[in-house]
This record gives sequence, structure tokens and C-alpha cells, in this order.
Amino acid sequence: MAVWMEIRCDYRSEHKIIFPDEPCWSDENNGPMEMAGNTQQSAIRNHRFLARDAKKAGWAFKNGEWICPTCWARIQAGKEALHTDI
Ligand SMILES: [Zn+2]
Repeated sequence: MAVWMEIRCDYRSEHKIIFPDEPCWSDENNGPMEMAGNTQQSAIRNHRFLARDAKKAGWAFKNGEWICPTCWARIQAGKEALHTDI
């Protein structure tokens, strides 16, 4: 058995209609993803790898949420507010 792991943007699909030219990476199924083994240790190691890979690619981790580079750019440009109700 193996475990599929993927980091998904917590802002996915929220603004597909408002910003059609700024697609969220997760709506495009383009986030960091990898197959882990069937042990807890493998899942933990894979999660660390995915988090490091995401940050290298420009993902942000704010308030316990992952934000893809496109959504993060939109937030930094002031087009969208960061979730604060967490
Ligand atoms: Zn996104």
C-alpha cells in the first residue's frame, strides 16, 4: 500500500470567476505531490519533503494554511484578504 500526498491551496476555487486569468495552482492540480510509503515515518518524511518543495516553488504557509504562489501574489497585491478566522 502507498499513500498519495499533495499540498492543496486553501484559497483554491474561491476566485475562479473573479480572477479567471489567475488560476490557483490547486485548481490546475499543479501543487507539490508525491507518493509516500505505508508507514507513519514515510508519511512524515514525505510531508517534510513536500513542504520544503512548496516553499521553494513560492508557496506560503500562513495561519496554518497553504497558499499557492498565484493566490499568495493576489493577497500580497491587496486584491484579496488573508483568512483570519482560523
Ligand atoms: Zn491558490
